[in-house]
Amino acid sequence: MKFMKMCPKCGSNDILTVDGYCGAYGVGDNIMVGMTIFSAVPVDRYVCCSCGYSEEWIRREDMEKVRNYKRAHRDTGSRLLTDDRR
Ligand SMILES: [Zn+2]
Repeated sequence: MKFMKMCPKCGSNDILTVDGYCGAYGVGDNIMVGMTIFSAVPVDRYVCCSCGYSEEWIRREDMEKVRNYKRAHRDTGSRLLTDDRR
């Protein structure tokens, strides 16, 4: 969707891009990878105006921040068995 400029659900090309931003106290479309605004990663959103489908994308330059985020993990399928914090 980000690259094709076409909705994968309905085929419409009426796609809006909503830029992620990082406001005070973590408001906005972002992932907080730390305690301060300086560690917030904006999430850009692509919305189909035809059917309402939306996608969220992290910018490539922010990928390393997310990779180092302690709550980020690869879903191995075993988390439900080993993680009792939730
Ligand atoms: Zn659509």
